[in-house]
Amino acid sequence: MYYTDESIIFYNGKFVKAKEVSTSTYGQTLHYGNGVFEGIRSYSTSMGTKIYKSDQHYERLKFGVKVMDIDFDYSIQELTDITYKLLKLNNLSDAYIRPIVLAGENMGVFSAKGSDLIIQCWEWEKLMGDSLLRVKTSRFQRPNPKSCFVEAKVTGHYINSILASNEVKKAGFDEALLLDMNNNVAECSGANIFMERTGVIYTPPKGHIMAGITRSTIIDICKEEGIPVHERHFTLDELKQADNAFFTGTAAEVVGLKSIDEYEFPVKWEESYGYKLMKLYKQEVLGLREKCLTN
Ligand code: PMP
Repeated sequence: MYYTDESIIFYNGKFVKAKEVSTSTYGQTLHYGNGVFEGIRSYSTSMGTKIYKSDQHYERLKFGVKVMDIDFDYSIQELTDITYKLLKLNNLSDAYIRPIVLAGENMGVFSAKGSDLIIQCWEWEKLMGDSLLRVKTSRFQRPNPKSCFVEAKVTGHYINSILASNEVKKAGFDEALLLDMNNNVAECSGANIFMERTGVIYTPPKGHIMAGITRSTIIDICKEEGIPVHERHFTLDELKQADNAFFTGTAAEVVGLKSIDEYEFPVKWEESYGYKLMKLYKQEVLGLREKCLTN
């Protein structure tokens, strides 16, 4: 699904065939989840292949390795250049890009010396599809921000997302909604949430969530388009009185919600701000908006 015999990946300074790469079985990422990754998209635009907000994604990767004390000395420019070259070698333009920094060998629970950088890319449809999602609140909460760096994309953090997704998918739902430790709505397993209520958009503030790059793009688009938007905590009860809601993320882009638990959002998706923002986001990443936010 992700690679063929011909796929090329970047591995520690070289472009090599995906099928030929192997990594250590003593690595700390494998054993304890101390690795940092990114999820980036590139788009085929009228100006050629464009990686959307490459700088911001690689800044977040560098923030992650710094807080996790993982050796890493690539600059943002080097990482971007490598990624463009990788796309070219794989003949890809509309692609999902997955860089990952693996910590070195160490069976102890303090950061290892050395690291490996892998960058992979493949064609990937919108992660959660285009149909409206039936979402269920998970019994798993987002981690206490005092227990880890919630804004870093650390591989080990995703156990929380996997637990929540497994739980709700087994119950027949499409995606999981996670609350934070204070019982406020936090986010989906791999995307941020927005709700619309009486003509105003709300999204949880930073603190207990992944500070999504798509989330901040949507907030900026709202501000430019005169759509009222507020970052504030809200409860599940409030979400269940909303007119509409949607998720945002690099892989998922913008996707609408049909329901949360037993509650169906009453306003038609096509008449919601979420739908308008889904269209505007597509124009934004393709460089078709008048005032693009692209770096
Ligand atoms: N929340 C979580 C838990 C995520 O994994 C992601 C994906 N990185 C997001 C939100 C959305 O972030 P972004 O818009 O930067 O992709």
